[in-house]
Amino acid sequence: MYRSHTCGELRIEDQGKQVTLSGWVQKTRDKGFMVWVDLRDRYGLTQLIFDEKRTPKEIMEKASQLGREFVIQVKGEVIERESKNPNMPTGDVEILVSELNILNSAQLPPFTIEDETDGGEDLRMKYRYLDIRRNPVKNKLIFRSKVAMEVRKLLSEKGFIEVETPVLIKSTPEGARDFVVPSRMNEGQFYALPQSPQTFKQLLMVGGMDKYFQIVKCFRDEDLRADRQPEFTQIDCEMAFVEQEDILNMFEDFTRNLIKAVKGVEITKFPRMTYEQAMKKYGNDKPDIRFGMEFGELNDLAKNKGFNVFDQQELVVGIAVPGAASYTRKEIDKLIDWVKRPQIGANGLVWVKYNEDGSLKSSVDKFYSEEDLKAWAERTGAKAGDLILVMAGDADKTRTQLSALRMHLGNELGLRKADEFAPLWVVDFPLLEWDEETGRYHAMHHPFTSPKPEDIKLLDTEPGKVRANAYDLVLNGNEIGGGSIRIHDKNTQAMMFNHLGFTPEEAKAQFGFLMDAFQYGAPPHGGIAFGFDRLVAILGGQETIRDYIAFPKNNSGRDVMIDAPARISEDQLKELNLKLQVNS
Ligand code: ASP
Repeated sequence: MYRSHTCGELRIEDQGKQVTLSGWVQKTRDKGFMVWVDLRDRYGLTQLIFDEKRTPKEIMEKASQLGREFVIQVKGEVIERESKNPNMPTGDVEILVSELNILNSAQLPPFTIEDETDGGEDLRMKYRYLDIRRNPVKNKLIFRSKVAMEVRKLLSEKGFIEVETPVLIKSTPEGARDFVVPSRMNEGQFYALPQSPQTFKQLLMVGGMDKYFQIVKCFRDEDLRADRQPEFTQIDCEMAFVEQEDILNMFEDFTRNLIKAVKGVEITKFPRMTYEQAMKKYGNDKPDIRFGMEFGELNDLAKNKGFNVFDQQELVVGIAVPGAASYTRKEIDKLIDWVKRPQIGANGLVWVKYNEDGSLKSSVDKFYSEEDLKAWAERTGAKAGDLILVMAGDADKTRTQLSALRMHLGNELGLRKADEFAPLWVVDFPLLEWDEETGRYHAMHHPFTSPKPEDIKLLDTEPGKVRANAYDLVLNGNEIGGGSIRIHDKNTQAMMFNHLGFTPEEAKAQFGFLMDAFQYGAPPHGGIAFGFDRLVAILGGQETIRDYIAFPKNNSGRDVMIDAPARISEDQLKELNLKLQVNS
């Protein structure tokens, strides 16, 4: 028996017991006549004591050889500590060791395995198995497991069945490149790894499964923008015989119960906003509504007053920064520099100080009277003491830039509180999105999303105006889920593929199986998928998903611990009938 108790378990009530513990040496303190060791396992730390007066000599000697991260087993008596540590659950006791067994020695670890470590990110990723021994990492993985268990419980209570779908499949377009896997048995042919189980879950609806879910890995070969992973996890869900309203209600309830279960926080109704409203009010289709600073459009108030810079622009729009009228010139210049950085790309900012005494002072006083500026204040919701920041330019770009500034200020001013949860639904997304690069329309969500019936007539004339039965669930400025009501008849699906630029032959070759299935009694259906990694991170009060993944990849998609991706051998290539054309 390796252990009778864990290292997090013993209390003063256990005094006098003979126990066996196993774990890692976190730290030793050797005074010669006495040695103290902090013994760690997943459950906590327990102090061991070796005392010249009470411990046999050979064990004393062994104890002094212990190094960090040695794996040991000890037997001994639980005794009351002389100097107690109230910060540790086991801090009232220590183990007077009578037997010491070194199960494995350890090299000095490349960083200290303590809550506050001296190891940088790269080093910790290379030795992730050591990093996982640290509380901050370990606790996040335990939290993730708890959320996953709760998800399964809540969904199965609602009648969802977990079904696994294949990983070696054919391309599902979700807007990214596919990872592909060559087939040895089918020369010259490739599988694609699923960007999501989208088509399979729809086929499960045709198969009559009615309510499906799966906690599932998805793979997307994208350039890794900040905090994305090439493989990530979804809670993927689909239901038959539903309308959008049914899905929203079902998953609002699910999300509410999940937040209640894992955070103890009650959320009442989730507000809803159309895509158009979200863009106008927040410049963002995933607005963080934990704080205000809503956009005020100023075209009618700011144009044609002699200020040329505004006159030529499509949109003049501002936000009120609470309590920032007292900003110094230097502080405002810093914000101007911030928006002018290439990452944001704005031309600059016009500012208006709405002073505490009710007076208004701006960087464009030459062109606007106090009366004019008062109207701006009203439009942006500014109160005395606030600072109004205004941007102008092409409507879409300017909204995006002002949104970035709003989020930046939200962070700076501490308005994005980690323990506050503000979910909302964003609905009525456009069906199609213009892609500058390819010069054609793409499905904004995916090609299986149904257009709003009343908008279908616009498909030929104004495709960009067609709205979809598509929705996102947004939490604290992050899209945590997205889905749609699907097309479930062959003709509409064929028409959709046509609009997306597929020839009938291409559509048949790629998605013939789905359109075939639609001819055998496909029920109306729809669903949603949650980004599980991000959901867990936000519930954990953090925004980096990497921390919540046991073995994440870095920004270039590498696993630096196992060193993947890697070359394969000539023999493997030959077996696959592949020839490499790499220059280095
Ligand atoms: N498959 C979609 C996605 O991965 C989600 C859905 O439409 O249910 O975003």
